[in-house]
Amino acid sequence: MILIAGAGPTGLVLALGLARRGIPFRIIDRRSGPGMASRAIAVHARTLELYDQFGLAEDIIAGGVRIETIRLREAGRAVAAIDIAGMGGDLSPFPFLLSYPQDDHERFLAAELARLGVTVAWNTELRDLCDGAEDVAVTLRHGGREETQRYAWVAGCDGSHSRVREALGIDFAGGRYDQLFYVADVRLSGATPPELVMNLGARSFALRMPVRSQGSSRVVGLVPAAAAAAVTATPAGDFEPLRREVEGLLGAKVEAVHWFSTYRVDHRVAARFRHGHCFLLGDAGHVHSPAGGQGMNTGIGDAMNLAWKLAGVGCRGACPSLLDSYEPERMAFAQSLVATTDRVFQAVVSPGVAGTALRLLIVPILFPVLTSIGVLQRTLFETVSQVKLHYPASPLSRGSAGEIAGGDRLPWLADADNFAPLRSLSWQVHVHGEVDPQVYAVARRLGIALHLWPWGEAAEAAGYARNAHYLVRPDGHVGLAGADAGSLAGYVAAFKLDPTRRLPLAGPGSA
Ligand SMILES: Cc1cc2nc3c(=O)[nH]c(=O)nc-3n(C[C@H](O)[C@H](O)[C@H](O)COP(=O)(O)OP(=O)(O)OC[C@H]3O[C@@H](n4cnc5c(N)ncnc54)[C@H](O)[C@@H]3O)c2cc1C
Repeated sequence: MILIAGAGPTGLVLALGLARRGIPFRIIDRRSGPGMASRAIAVHARTLELYDQFGLAEDIIAGGVRIETIRLREAGRAVAAIDIAGMGGDLSPFPFLLSYPQDDHERFLAAELARLGVTVAWNTELRDLCDGAEDVAVTLRHGGREETQRYAWVAGCDGSHSRVREALGIDFAGGRYDQLFYVADVRLSGATPPELVMNLGARSFALRMPVRSQGSSRVVGLVPAAAAAAVTATPAGDFEPLRREVEGLLGAKVEAVHWFSTYRVDHRVAARFRHGHCFLLGDAGHVHSPAGGQGMNTGIGDAMNLAWKLAGVGCRGACPSLLDSYEPERMAFAQSLVATTDRVFQAVVSPGVAGTALRLLIVPILFPVLTSIGVLQRTLFETVSQVKLHYPASPLSRGSAGEIAGGDRLPWLADADNFAPLRSLSWQVHVHGEVDPQVYAVARRLGIALHLWPWGEAAEAAGYARNAHYLVRPDGHVGLAGADAGSLAGYVAAFKLDPTRRLPLAGPGSA
């Protein structure tokens, strides 16, 4: 049995990934119910692609607001409007940013789990654990009583103050950003356009995004140093000392404040994401600046990465070494986030002369110019949306064909609708051109679905090699690129992939 400790977005998505595969598990949380604080709001393209594998992307999009424009304002005046719907271009079926607050998001996931017959055990706290040779002894507290239970695997999805991480003695090195941030859900005067509005000021910075479920706006910003003491004078925080500054930046009156909170931000990555039978995911393993909107999306990515591996090893006889790939794949990405995206966004919100110059001079001039250049638009979209996230150094990544290497996310092809087969959540082979009869025979023998599309210019432009065989993982990343019959059989044997599960050959133009 698997224990998921923590029912934030990371734990809920891991639960969904296991439930959809029919894997038994238990999910607990020390809170009494789903989160009420909306916190993270940006949902990126890669997260929607992963949800699409569960058939949930459209429902989530319907609950949020598609952001297709970034409007840049400086010191209260409009500087530029950038069409970001075009930025993703042909890179993703979801070439936009979705505004969908974390509390709505968590409620949606919990309801989806309930539909699958899974209930979160609320008011249940993980107090301690001991990772043994065979399993993990976990002490839980519920209803004033403590009891120890044994689990084959423990997924620590218990947030930045993770008890799982602490009990395993895993270091959480990093630091704390200087700035104090605020987050508020507010009703503003005037319209609430479906835009991300970046408001830059000499002393402050405020991002504004619409919240569909409340018809309100989310404002995330920097508390000017001079206002910090007044804003934090009470435990709940006080918006009033910020009102003039914020209204000036936004160019709108704040008519009602539904929710307000202040917070400081750490940048930390755990020294290990795995310890024996235990894993760290989401904020338990890494925390980032909220300015780039990457934290929650990265936690969801962790969960999607681990779910199919745990399902394979825990219940389907796959080789335990499959699980060894979780840490190198996800830690490399978490570290690169802290070193790159986080730093860029952090520079823009940093206090002092450099940050002020960036906000008032460099960003307002450079951002519109840079984002009008096609190639830079693509790079920006690829970076922020996480669609370029890849695992080149993973033990699961092998081979290359065309411009696609093992570990890459499978490039999307609009005409071929080549993401549709990923909804099977199974290993599969994709071919553009003609199938090698020997690979076909091996795939058939192993029960791996083989999907075939006619060769075309779009496939070539996306980096595919004609007639090359790509073995695709259940999370849509390429495992083996340029497979022949021998390497395909060798790969499946090496990891003992779903050996008891025979899947029918299926898909568009099945061979
Ligand atoms: C004020 C604020 C604003 C933010 N804004 C943004 C943003 O704009 N964009 C962005 O990307 N990110 C933002 N973040 C970060 C984002 O909210 C997190 O990255 C995200 O919540 C991580 O999800 P998680 O499931 O890993 O952890 P959490 O959401 O922290 O969930 C952890 C869960 O574990 C439970 N738990 C903890 N300890 C135990 C225990 N011992 N036993 C049982 N259960 C336990 C907790 O109750 C909680 O439900 C913000 C965070 C804060 C605090």
